[in-house]
Amino acid sequence: MTTEQTLTQRSGSQCELCNSTEGLVVFAVPPASEASNADQCILVCSNCHDQIQQPETIIPNHWRCLNDSMWSQVPAVQVMAWRMLNRLSSTETWAQDLLDMMYLDDETREWAESGMASEESDTPTLDSNGSVLSAGDTVTLIKDLAVKGAGFTAKRGTAVRGISLTGNPEQIEGRVNGVRIVLLTKYLKKS
Ligand SMILES: [Zn+2]
Repeated sequence: MTTEQTLTQRSGSQCELCNSTEGLVVFAVPPASEASNADQCILVCSNCHDQIQQPETIIPNHWRCLNDSMWSQVPAVQVMAWRMLNRLSSTETWAQDLLDMMYLDDETREWAESGMASEESDTPTLDSNGSVLSAGDTVTLIKDLAVKGAGFTAKRGTAVRGISLTGNPEQIEGRVNGVRIVLLTKYLKKS
């Protein structure tokens, strides 16, 4: 069975967010990019799809449908409902109320949040001099940093090789003394 057939059956041939039957398409929920695994996809109508893809065209009232669909048993639907409510919650109090009621298990929440981070990734991660940092770069600490929890101080001048970026442009991850820690970019410079 193709992904589309699986989703059509799962949804009863309706948009899994708003129940519309107009222009249904398979949408791979980021970070999934291919529609090969039905568990990572949802069936959405063209109206929902356009608004997901172009956040500047969002019509808040359309998304009151999430009042129902956020209770879906399908994790991919929960993830999209959570992300849309998050987007709307900055301006819509009803969206914040729904978000507060929503329950996601740990795995689903992680998925939902990871997608939000990748959407914000066009903000570059910069070091203390304003140089752009990329995954795999080596950086040097420009001050002594007490690593709480690991019980040591990372000394000024320590090189951290092969850093990873995080969803937050003010933080990177790297290994110091064999411990993977989060470092604030304002205390680093690119080597
Ligand atoms: Zn829809």
